[in-house]
Amino acid sequence: MTARILVVDDIPANVKLLEVRLLAEYFEVLTAGNGAEALESCENGKVDVVLLDVMMPDMDGFEVCRRLKGDPATSHIPVVMVTALDHVSDRIRGLEAGADDFLTKPVNDLQLMTRVRSLVRLKMLTDELRLRASTTRNIGIEELLSGRQPASEAVPRVLLIDERQASGARIAGMLGKTAKVDVVADPHVGFFQAAEEPYECVLVSTGFAEFDPLRLCSQLRSLDRTRFVPIILLADEGEEDRILRGLELGVNDYLTRPIDRQELTARLRTQVRRKRYNDHLRASVTQTIEMAVTDGLTGLHNRRYLDSHLDTLFERAVARRRPLSLMITDLDRFKSINDAYGHDGGDEVLREFARRLRKNVRGIDLACRFGGEEFVVVMPDTEGAVAEKVAERVRAEIAGLPFVINGVSIPVTVSVGVSSLKRGVDSVAELLKRADVALYEAKSGGRNRVVARAA
Ligand code: GH3
Ligand code: MG
Ligand code: MG
Repeated sequence: MTARILVVDDIPANVKLLEVRLLAEYFEVLTAGNGAEALESCENGKVDVVLLDVMMPDMDGFEVCRRLKGDPATSHIPVVMVTALDHVSDRIRGLEAGADDFLTKPVNDLQLMTRVRSLVRLKMLTDELRLRASTTRNIGIEELLSGRQPASEAVPRVLLIDERQASGARIAGMLGKTAKVDVVADPHVGFFQAAEEPYECVLVSTGFAEFDPLRLCSQLRSLDRTRFVPIILLADEGEEDRILRGLELGVNDYLTRPIDRQELTARLRTQVRRKRYNDHLRASVTQTIEMAVTDGLTGLHNRRYLDSHLDTLFERAVARRRPLSLMITDLDRFKSINDAYGHDGGDEVLREFARRLRKNVRGIDLACRFGGEEFVVVMPDTEGAVAEKVAERVRAEIAGLPFVINGVSIPVTVSVGVSSLKRGVDSVAELLKRADVALYEAKSGGRNRVVARAA
């Protein structure tokens, strides 16, 4: 995994030091000697992570960070503040300025690599989501990407897993009103609770008498329901190896005891904010994908979806030697319904038709709006005779009870063509064509009827 790291420091020797170590790990390195240069690099180049010195003349690191985080074009680039070891207040200020992490000077090699790698991983995930989301014209997504959306400031629900009761109570107390904390002493109970409840962060305290806290972290990472929940490790001094191992396993952040209240709340806030941002992006992408394959009027799948899935269902049926049938339905004299009740009335009829259609097919059947007033239902594992019965049920369901649209009762009928997979010599196109021919026969035979073209 290679990435481009921007090192910002006003002292050339410091820049060189970090540059050499990063190059040795095959990262690409850009450098900047002051804040203005750093901002320019981020706006122009493809920077994946910024390592940012705090003390610089003209514009200090906090200001650079604030500007990066305030600009929609750069706000998603992770920033690591590089602070002096004993300046706790600097770290807090850095996190308040929106920094994603910090390193202390002199920079520990392993910490440098682990932090940079974990941020690069995160950046790639965010880039991927942004890329997918930005290919749409969804207004919600554009707002999100521009960073203009009001960040949700709702109090997050947090789970603290800590076997030592006094410690658990103390940490919960520190968080006070900034989070709604549940404290659990037993790691197994904690694991299940994390999977059941919608927590936005899990704090895992090391120091279990007989349990490896990293086991818990890796279990949380591998379970679907907790995969994206940030984990913060609360470690004891001298546990550097365990922390590094944890970060490699996907732990998002850590604190070492004695725990500083301000640092804890700042780190928690950063994790929750990032989770909410990524959740939102992920939901937008999912919604976009759904919109692309859904018919807006009826909520059924659309033609595009049918085209891509019918091939799959067909090939699967052939390979497994299973039956497959499909029906094409076409509303009768729909033009005159539009003429009599208006286009909006026609739309309502289509919606009601889709509802009745969906009610009369199985969950595994694929019901799609083929276009206009034509619908297709693909029925896996279904012999022609059965498909014909299903089609007849649909026909009867439509003709049996008039549609009531805006208080007006409208009689509606439908014609249906059914076809089934012919073993050995068939194709998707042939299958569709046979159903279409059958439909045409149903129309010319008087409408409101089912015609089947069995194999
Ligand atoms: P037939 O019994 O032969 O199928 O007659 P028909 O009138 O249903 O057939 P035709 O295909 O000639 O007309 C279909 C009509 O469906 C024409 C078109 O304006 C209308 N239509 C297509 N899509 C929509 C839609 O989304 N909403 C509405 N309200 N009407 C639509
Ligand atoms: Mg038609
Ligand atoms: Mg029609």
